[in-house]
Amino acid sequence: MRPRGTVLEPPVYPLELSRVDLAPYREGNTGIDHVHSFDSGVPGPHVMVNALTHGNELCGMVVVRRLLDAGIRPRAGRLTLAFANVAAYDRFAHDALQWRFVDRDFNRLWSDALLAQDHASVEARRAHALAPVLRTVDRLLDLHSTWHAVLPFFVLSRLPRVRRWADHLALPARQLLLPAFRHEGFHMIDYGAFADPHADAIGLIAECGQHFAGASARTAWQVTIRFLQACGSIDDGDAGRLGLEPVETRPIERYEIVQPVIAATDALRLTCSYAGFVVFPAGGVAAYDGQAPVLAPFDGAVVLAPRPDPRAGQQAFAWGRRVAD
Ligand SMILES: [Zn+2]
Repeated sequence: MRPRGTVLEPPVYPLELSRVDLAPYREGNTGIDHVHSFDSGVPGPHVMVNALTHGNELCGMVVVRRLLDAGIRPRAGRLTLAFANVAAYDRFAHDALQWRFVDRDFNRLWSDALLAQDHASVEARRAHALAPVLRTVDRLLDLHSTWHAVLPFFVLSRLPRVRRWADHLALPARQLLLPAFRHEGFHMIDYGAFADPHADAIGLIAECGQHFAGASARTAWQVTIRFLQACGSIDDGDAGRLGLEPVETRPIERYEIVQPVIAATDALRLTCSYAGFVVFPAGGVAAYDGQAPVLAPFDGAVVLAPRPDPRAGQQAFAWGRRVAD
């Protein structure tokens, strides 16, 4: 029997960000809807800031709109600003989880083999349209958010050069390393040169906080300014004018996922904050699945990626661990 008062009900998250019509941004200058690209004429990397890989993740949309509205142009190289899955975003409803995508997850289909099998789904058609641009990108920042108000973190591959970039940016300081084996499919940051150990392309996902929170958009903005500055797309003066704020430096924390926790009931509730990154000793009770305690399987087990409203048979969260390097 579960001790009374030991679990936390998932918080309700108010909609603090406006869902605006992106039709004024549809016609870019690339021939691809909702993709805008600016070439400085000066040698430098092709940098891309991407929003709305998932249709209900609003912070990236706020950032890319703000960059376009500010008329930002790169001082070196090329800068591409994109809203990826506008079809899903256009169906967005605050209380509906499903508009993460229309037909399939846009962030699980990024391999040429997978794309060759699908010319029909909304997301694959969009990926086919974006792929020629993506193949020329040297530095990709893909802006995301989470259902729960999880503390901000980068998601990245294990390639040393990518880890060095995330370390250098240092905001967010938490990093989640992708597993070597992708059982769910391939992310945009897994595509082509981003995953090639011999290339020098950098792809980073920034998870900036809760989908609907104003704080997520502020975090995404600071991460983006730092990224553009590190890429040389903007200089220090530009960054200051764009509102770069000093952040409290904190040590880099790297995590990896060890195993998923599959709910046995429709009533799995955490005993700890849904903000994630909570550490448990072996045998610590992290959740109750109905009446059954969910125990930490090893010392230092970390609650990662709590999912919204998990049902029996679905992943509720993942056990992870801190990794030294
Ligand atoms: Zn996402």
